[in-house]
Amino acid sequence: MYFRAYYGVPEILAPDGTNVNAVRGLLDYIARLVEQYRPTHLACCWDEDWRPAWRVELLPTYKAHRVVEEVEGAADVEVVPDPLEVQVPVIREVLAAYGIAVVGAPGYEADDVIGTLATDAGMPVDVVTGDRDLFQLVDDEAGVRVLYIGRGVGRHERVDEAWVLEKYGVAARQYADFATLRGDPSDGLPGVPGVGEKTAASLLRKYDDLAGVVAAAADPDSDLGGGPRLKIKHAADYLAVAPRVVAVARDLDLPREGLELPAEPADPDALAALSERWRLDSPVERLTAVLAG
Ligand code: MN
Ligand code: MN
Repeated sequence: MYFRAYYGVPEILAPDGTNVNAVRGLLDYIARLVEQYRPTHLACCWDEDWRPAWRVELLPTYKAHRVVEEVEGAADVEVVPDPLEVQVPVIREVLAAYGIAVVGAPGYEADDVIGTLATDAGMPVDVVTGDRDLFQLVDDEAGVRVLYIGRGVGRHERVDEAWVLEKYGVAARQYADFATLRGDPSDGLPGVPGVGEKTAASLLRKYDDLAGVVAAAADPDSDLGGGPRLKIKHAADYLAVAPRVVAVARDLDLPREGLELPAEPADPDALAALSERWRLDSPVERLTAVLAG
């Protein structure tokens, strides 16, 4: 969300000349969504590792195009422009001053933190994200939906099972298999060559899940046509590992306490100081008023 704010909000300079657009934009996004949905709990899920080694080992192309430089002995780095990078610690400090929980896990992406917190949460969960990967978590019965901000926070879509079915022609529980078959260039996920959205959806409608599709390709008596059959067979190595790359973790050891949405800032003095130093007055005012609700 702060990436989105950085690219979507005009530059605004703090007194020392630092651009604080991502900080201000993020606070405004949170205020808007909290005002609209009035959640009881709120967790900002952090990418402790945006490209975990265990995913790359399974699939070396995973997010490979997002690596700009690989320094020997150092972690791979994602392109975080300097003017955004300097805002990240400020974001952390402001969230801490509010008492808004930040949750991350070493060696895991925010996706995995989200997957874990959204699973067996004991309450309905809205996942706010611009990442389609999280559609795999959508579950009407469990009350899990995605507020998809791909086209902007102000124009977010409420993704439930009907939405996924309408958009992709598969059930939400089939979305991960669908993404595996189709691939996703934004994540360096190749998919099965020659299998696009339409074919992936029709295969899953017919054979239910990836295991069913693979079994049909191997079964000489199945009614799977010769074209898709060959494509699936040729992609056997990819299909053996990709599901584990695509599936978000749901069983990380994470704190479930302390995620309540604060009604007032936890540390008002620190918040006031941050607000003055970084010229956050109006977004801080807005968010504080919304929290007091
Ligand atoms: Mn993705
Ligand atoms: Mn993702």
